[in-house]
Amino acid sequence: MTSLRLVPLECGWLSTAASSVVAGLSGNVELPIPSWLVIHPSGQTVVFDTGLHHELVEGVAARYPLMARQFVSRFTPEDKVSERLQQVDIDPSGVTNIVFSHLHFDHCGGTSLLPNARIIVQEAEWKSAHHPKLIEHEVYNPADFDLGHDVLKVEGTHDVFGDGSVVCIPTPGHTAGHQSLRVNLESGPVVLTGDCVYWEQVLEEMLLPPFGFDHQMQLDSMQKLKQLRDEDGCRLLYGHDQAQWAHLTQSSAGIT
Ligand SMILES: [Zn+2]
Repeated sequence: MTSLRLVPLECGWLSTAASSVVAGLSGNVELPIPSWLVIHPSGQTVVFDTGLHHELVEGVAARYPLMARQFVSRFTPEDKVSERLQQVDIDPSGVTNIVFSHLHFDHCGGTSLLPNARIIVQEAEWKSAHHPKLIEHEVYNPADFDLGHDVLKVEGTHDVFGDGSVVCIPTPGHTAGHQSLRVNLESGPVVLTGDCVYWEQVLEEMLLPPFGFDHQMQLDSMQKLKQLRDEDGCRLLYGHDQAQWAHLTQSSAGIT
């Protein structure tokens, strides 16, 4: 039997002032925008987050005028999640599940390119992402994610395949219904942190963004991920960690 496989997919880059994503930092940061493919031994697939929207080949302002004040994108047609999947021999129309960490624009832009997937999202996130004020401020854009897919709204921990191999772990705080994804690979458990932790340093120093749904809730979620690392032996793969990203194998062999 083939084993569970995790394949990192690079779906563009954003650059911004570090202080606009982590309070108190200086300088600029380059943020990789990952999507993660999980291939289950049954042949079913999960894509965890779908990267940037393909219109961002024209820049952030092409789709999000307010976000363009803070973020500059680097996005080429080959950064589309559908292209990245094809590069590792996966048919985008055959993807069975999308799990969203949350519904900010850099995590759900490629959703239209995976037309037959079932979406798995925390109920609180789905609800928050339809709030008119948050849509007005471009925190969320339903045109990115509310496209007629089957949507499974879950509350709390959710076992995607019912065999314990891939499990959604709620890590709220960054947003109302943020979740991380635990993938129990043969080489050991991995947790995709999403934006609960952007990169390693922010976990070591427990740094927070200047925005967010609930800072105390996020600190508790960060603590939970630390515990999974320190007590459960989970390897953490961060949401936007340039240094870590550079060391990940982006080939169809993936991580097993
Ligand atoms: Zn993000």
